[in-house]
Amino acid sequence: MVSFEIARGDITHFPAEAIVNAANRYLEHGGGVAYAIAKAAAGNAREYIRISKEAMREQLGKSSIEHGEVVVTPAMRLEEYGIRYVIHTVGPYCGGVWDDDKKEKLRKAILGALRKADELGIKTIAFPAISAGIYGCPLEEVVRTFKETVEEFSKEAKGVEKVYLVLYSGRDYRTAVETLGLH
Ligand code: ADP
Repeated sequence: MVSFEIARGDITHFPAEAIVNAANRYLEHGGGVAYAIAKAAAGNAREYIRISKEAMREQLGKSSIEHGEVVVTPAMRLEEYGIRYVIHTVGPYCGGVWDDDKKEKLRKAILGALRKADELGIKTIAFPAISAGIYGCPLEEVVRTFKETVEEFSKEAKGVEKVYLVLYSGRDYRTAVETLGLH
């Protein structure tokens, strides 16, 4: 059984073996959580973008990713917190609109990262609220999709035991807790 937990904090310091980046298709890491991870990992976001693009070429043989495809990069300076890998995945762009297509793209993005974590042989993985920032998807729907996707993954998981959804702001954390009826 895979457990799913909500946490509040900065994902760049979150002690999970892998953290997930809410990336764009080109792994440009220009803003939001992607920029924060890139800067914290390599000390310089530009350098981590270079490393990410090279990893994408090596791992997938191309220069952009689709929903469900993931790229893995080393944690570099984040190893200090016990983080070993950064798994880059791309969620849907919503711009405030939510429908079945967005949900399916988010499900694929989450599932791709979870399957990669299993492949890497790790037990703990932390996600940011993919697509709930610049990509404009409603946080409540993102949180529900996370819960459902982790439940689905639970049936096939080989080694992953704990999945965290890390909310950056107190407000988002409270929304997530309320959405899941935890309080
Ligand atoms: P997207 O483009 O997929 O929407 P964003 O980076 O804009 O990605 O935002 C995704 C979520 O990550 C937002 O809820 C944002 O508040 C959150 N976030 C931003 N920085 C951090 C951080 N350091 N740790 C955890 N979550 C973060």
